Amino acid sequence: MRFYTLLVLLLMAGGVTMQAQEFQRIVSLRDPLFLDTTSVVFHEIYDFWQRYEYAYFLDYGKISDPNYKPTNYDFWTDFEKEDYGNPNSIIQCNLLPFYTYEEYFMGVAKRNDTLYELQTAFFDDFPSPKQLLGIFTIPLIRTSDGFKLVNKLTINKSYFCKKQIGWITYYYPSTYAFDEAAANTAVSRLTTFAEEFGVEGMEPVEYYLFDNKTEMFHYFGIDGSCYDFYSAETVVPYGNSKIGKNKICYTKGGEGKIHEFIHLMLKSVSNGQRFSWFEEGVCCYFGEHVLQTKEWHFDKLKAFLNDNPQIDLSVDLIQAYMDADGKYTHDSTQSVIKYKRPYSDVNSNYSYDIQMVICEMLYKKGGMDLVKRMLFETKRNEDEYEMIEILLGVKREEVNGVIREYLREKY
Ligand SMILES: [Zn+2]
Repeated sequence: MRFYTLLVLLLMAGGVTMQAQEFQRIVSLRDPLFLDTTSVVFHEIYDFWQRYEYAYFLDYGKISDPNYKPTNYDFWTDFEKEDYGNPNSIIQCNLLPFYTYEEYFMGVAKRNDTLYELQTAFFDDFPSPKQLLGIFTIPLIRTSDGFKLVNKLTINKSYFCKKQIGWITYYYPSTYAFDEAAANTAVSRLTTFAEEFGVEGMEPVEYYLFDNKTEMFHYFGIDGSCYDFYSAETVVPYGNSKIGKNKICYTKGGEGKIHEFIHLMLKSVSNGQRFSWFEEGVCCYFGEHVLQTKEWHFDKLKAFLNDNPQIDLSVDLIQAYMDADGKYTHDSTQSVIKYKRPYSDVNSNYSYDIQMVICEMLYKKGGMDLVKRMLFETKRNEDEYEMIEILLGVKREEVNGVIREYLREKY
C-alpha cells in the first residue's frame, strides 16, 4: 500500500489523538426537508449504525489481543465475517478510525425487499477546517436477526468478469481490458519468488482490477475519498493487499505486478509477526512499486537525495519532520506541524525506495537468506541500523554516505 500524501498521514495522526478521548461524536442528519425522518425503518437503520460505531469504538485498542473477539463483527452478515476475516477491512483501509470524526449522515435508501443502503460522510477540522474524509455507501440486508451490514464489493462481485490463473481469481468490470499475457508472466515470476523465498502452497487469492481509483472506490462503496482526486499531472496507480482475507485490489496494469502478492506471501509465512518498514523494500525490490521498475525508482531517489543534502540517513531511514519551506529536517523545532512523515513527494515514496536499496545491497551480498534475516530479525523500525551493521557491516554513522555512494556508482 502506498501512502501518497502528507494529508493522509496527518488525518491518521489526528484520528489516533482523538482515539484516547471519550466517545463524544458530532453527528448531523441531513435536513428533514430532503430526508424522510418519519420512516420507522430509517430510524431502525440509523440507530443500528450508531450502535455499530459505538461497538467499533469499544473494540478499538483491544484488536491487538489475538484472543479478543471484536463485538462490531456481529453487525455484519456471517458470510462477510467468513469471507473477509475482518469485515471492516475495506472501510478501515480507507478511513481509520472513521467513527472518531465528525459525521454527516445523508440517509437510507430502499433497494428491494431485503436490501437497503445507508450513505454517510465524515469530516475533520485537521489540518484545516471542514476536510471531507470520505463518503461511504454501505448496504444492509434485513435478516431474521435484524439488519446486517454487507460490503458493497460483495454485491458488485457477481457483475464482474472472472478469470482464473493458477491459485488466483481475477475480477474486473466488463469495461476493463484484462491483460492475460501480463498476468501469466506475473504468476510465473511470483512462483519463482515463492520458491526462492521458501513459501510453500498458496491459499486462493481474489485479485480485483479497475481502471482507476475512482472506479475502484465506487465498487467498494466509497463515493468520495480523501485518497482520491490527488494528482492533476499523473494517472495515479494504487494497490492494496489489506482489503480483506487473501484479497488484493489494483488499478490498471496491476495484473502484471506482484508487489501486493509478495505482501500476502510474507503474511502467510510471518506467523503473526509484524514486519518492519523493510517489508516494503522487499515487496518493491522483487515486485516493483506503483508500476515502475527499480531502476526508475533508484534514479528518482538519487535525484531526491541530491536535492536534499540536509537529509541524513544515519539519523532516520524512513521519515523526518518538514519545516516551513517544505524541506525535510531532523529537527522538530523547525517543523510547522510536528509530525514525522515518510520521505516522499507527489511522484515517489522515497522511504520505500531507501528500503529497496538496502534490500538490493543485502540480496547482492548474501542472496535471499540475508534478505530473510533482515525481514525476520528486525523487530522494530528502530532496530534497522543494528541489523544493517550485523548483516552488511555498515555502522550507523556510515549509512548516509554508503547509500548515497551506492546510488552514485550503480544508478
Ligand atoms: Zn507495499
